[in-house]
Amino acid sequence: MIDFNNTDIAFSMKSNADLRNAYILFSTIQNRTIVKAAKSATMFALKLQLPLSWAVKPTLYRQFVGGETLEDCMKNVNTLNSYNVKSVLDYSAEGGTELDDVQKAYEETIRSIEFAAENQSIAYTVFKPTAMIINRVLVKASEDFPSLGDIEKAEYENFRERIFALCEKAYENHVRILIDAEHFASQELIDRIVEESMRRYNKDRAIVFQTLQMYRKDRLEYLKFLHEDSVKNRYIPGIKFVRGAYMEEERARAYELSYIDPIHPDKESTDRCYNEGLRYVVENIDNFELFSGTHNYESNQLLAQLIDEKGLKRDDKRIFFSQLYGMSDNISFTLAKEGFNVCKYVPYAPVDKVLPYLLRRAEENTSMSGQTGRELQLIKIELDRRRTGK
Ligand SMILES: Cc1cc2nc3c(=O)[nH]c(=O)nc-3n(C[C@H](O)[C@H](O)[C@H](O)COP(=O)(O)OP(=O)(O)OC[C@H]3O[C@@H](n4cnc5c(N)ncnc54)[C@H](O)[C@@H]3O)c2cc1C
Repeated sequence: MIDFNNTDIAFSMKSNADLRNAYILFSTIQNRTIVKAAKSATMFALKLQLPLSWAVKPTLYRQFVGGETLEDCMKNVNTLNSYNVKSVLDYSAEGGTELDDVQKAYEETIRSIEFAAENQSIAYTVFKPTAMIINRVLVKASEDFPSLGDIEKAEYENFRERIFALCEKAYENHVRILIDAEHFASQELIDRIVEESMRRYNKDRAIVFQTLQMYRKDRLEYLKFLHEDSVKNRYIPGIKFVRGAYMEEERARAYELSYIDPIHPDKESTDRCYNEGLRYVVENIDNFELFSGTHNYESNQLLAQLIDEKGLKRDDKRIFFSQLYGMSDNISFTLAKEGFNVCKYVPYAPVDKVLPYLLRRAEENTSMSGQTGRELQLIKIELDRRRTGK
């Protein structure tokens, strides 16, 4: 079994200053009260358009963000690559919901595809489908499609066309493209568009990757549906597994609107479903490509074991492990050292645009206190190891 606790390997990319910054940061965001207060203060400052970068840039931003622009990220991308860890540059500007913001996100994603085509250290490109449509139109289309007016229908059609155009661009440039999964309410519409894209562009290999949130009760069944559909329509589905980021909101919405909660009742069921998905895809790997996005020790160990047991090459290009930039380096760097394909999701955007993403990371690390605790402990061990020279 792979040991993720060798801190020498885990933090080989980090300077002492980086580690000290990470230690202070993770210790601080473990405190729920501080994170809550910081979130309110940040929202307040944003409303008043007060400058925040002096506080955010040397702390949260430095830990979790690759840079302001694609070019800006290259220093970090190259460093990761020197440890055999590839990157996925993720334009993480959030908050805009008008057509201007949509156009900007679309153009930036096009640029990121062209950028990836030129750069071997970038393994995939990625986008959030909700960034490709005016938010209120997606909400209305998801809740009551027939009620869309003519202009809204046209905007929805543009949304589909934008996604197809991004996938086509990726196809022409031989770049794989991940389509992130979103809230349950809008995912149904997105699923149909991604399926259509996979049928069009995944004929010879997987270019388009659908994201399956395995905290959903229906996703194993959906995986099997994709398998059958791909055999029938002769394409290779790209499967990106994650556990899912919106559990609390999904449960609250299901309760409020009185429908059955789509999320597994407990963590064990989500874990079981995630691991079952990994088993299914590796078992049928000739029909799939796989991207496993998780910080979970057991799931990462299981995938490594499945690859070995099936007799696949560890760097079989159809299978990638992935973690977020600034988190679980011990997993990423150890897997890469063991010869597996690994990439980091590297967010980029100017400080003010990436704040919602950063606040989510802070909150997530608060709620995953077990994992943050583990991360902190490893950083401390490594700082001690370097200090004593052992
Ligand atoms: C590379 C990468 C890409 C990602 N892309 C997306 C994306 O496109 N869409 C998206 O939604 N998320 C995405 N995520 C986030 C992901 O969904 C998880 O929220 C996050 O990674 C934590 O899960 P884990 O498997 O890493 O860790 P773990 O700590 O093992 O799992 C935590 C997760 O388990 C689930 N869970 C926790 N408690 C319960 C419970 N009581 N009942 C049921 N389930 C529970 C939740 O999903 C929670 O986030 C991505 C993550 C990574 C690493």
